[in-house]
Amino acid sequence: MDRRHFLATIALTSACSAKRLRVPTPLQSYRLPRVHVSNDRIIRTVVGLRPFRPSGFVVKTEVLEGKTIVHNYGHGGGGVTLSWGTAHLAVELALPTGATRMAVLGAGAVGLATARLLQEHGVQVTIYAKDLPPDTTSNIAGAQWFPVSVYDRDRATPAFLSQFVEAARFAYRRYQLMVGEYYGIRWMPNYSMSRQPFSDGGLGGSQSSIADLMPELRDLAPGDHPFPFPYVRQFDTMFIQPSIYLESMLREFRIAGGTILIHELRDLREVLALPQSVIVNCTGLGAKALFNDQELIPIKGQLTVLLPQPEIEYATEPPGLYMFPRRDGILLGGTHERGNWDVQPNREAEARIIAGHAAVFRDMRA
Ligand SMILES: Cc1cc2nc3c(=O)[nH]c(=O)nc-3n(C[C@H](O)[C@H](O)[C@H](O)COP(=O)(O)OP(=O)(O)OC[C@H]3O[C@@H](n4cnc5c(N)ncnc54)[C@H](O)[C@@H]3O)c2cc1C
Repeated sequence: MDRRHFLATIALTSACSAKRLRVPTPLQSYRLPRVHVSNDRIIRTVVGLRPFRPSGFVVKTEVLEGKTIVHNYGHGGGGVTLSWGTAHLAVELALPTGATRMAVLGAGAVGLATARLLQEHGVQVTIYAKDLPPDTTSNIAGAQWFPVSVYDRDRATPAFLSQFVEAARFAYRRYQLMVGEYYGIRWMPNYSMSRQPFSDGGLGGSQSSIADLMPELRDLAPGDHPFPFPYVRQFDTMFIQPSIYLESMLREFRIAGGTILIHELRDLREVLALPQSVIVNCTGLGAKALFNDQELIPIKGQLTVLLPQPEIEYATEPPGLYMFPRRDGILLGGTHERGNWDVQPNREAEARIIAGHAAVFRDMRA
């Protein structure tokens, strides 16, 4: 499910409360400054591999050789967004074991949220991770709070969708408590753009139950926005700056008495040899080899970062592209390559992304 389908359904399911849609806002009230897009403003281009499963993330328990393994991996393009929520689901499975010491595998957004929630329940946690921030996929993320690109609509079961909704709701509430400089989280308006009217993406009913997670969702009339597209949808959501957020999470984990061991687990035998009887698996794409999950695939994503522009306080999503402003730079994205394990930047994709965004901001009314 991509952003456009998600937004289409959210709007559709909100249509009963007509005041949510087509509330015109006068153009002059926007006064949005332009993003300056040019090759000489590029400061880096980075690649990350989203850990994607067509049927959605895995949160379940498995007992192997007397050890309880609680899986929590495979979040696709929404792992930062959903991390606290699936951590909540995983912790609900782990706590009934009664263990007071547990292992968490992985120190990305999912592993750190899981470890912190376990600590809040009095569990003594040891994290085992091959890499720590800033060297995780979670550090590459945008990261917009938006649960999209998490599963394929035709593969999601009702049981999964129920977990998805519960996770999204829990995470949405938890992140709100963390807004501010310390965790690097802030609210911002987003403008999604289209050449065609936003229409029903044909989603099942699950999305309707999280329509309220997109406050102030509204369609803007052509005269009510400055963008060179006939259809623009606005909504507010949170943005998480991973370099700040993940460092603060590590710090909080250590302050709460957690132990971190930099340790690559090479196979299941090594996992089962860990001293803890309960092990929570948050290894992202690493779970493919470690637990032989054939459904788990990478979706390669690439971001080109421009010099920071502190005056930019909004995000844009023209068709196939997205711009997220952060303190450490302006992020320009727009690639989703399924099954591609190559972590080298694709220069053609970079040129396409730069040209696409340059055209949008060139044609935007100042
Ligand atoms: C370009 C791009 C943009 C994105 N934008 C967003 C966004 O806007 N919003 C959003 O919510 N998500 C976004 N994502 C998706 C998000 O980055 C992922 O869903 C998320 O990072 C997954 O988190 P994780 O903790 O499961 O995995 P990771 O961050 O990959 O962490 C996995 C951890 O497990 C460890 N590990 C793996 N294998 C082993 C092993 N064998 N032994 C020991 N340790 C191991 C790793 O070292 C690491 O510590 C984006 C991703 C990309 C690439």
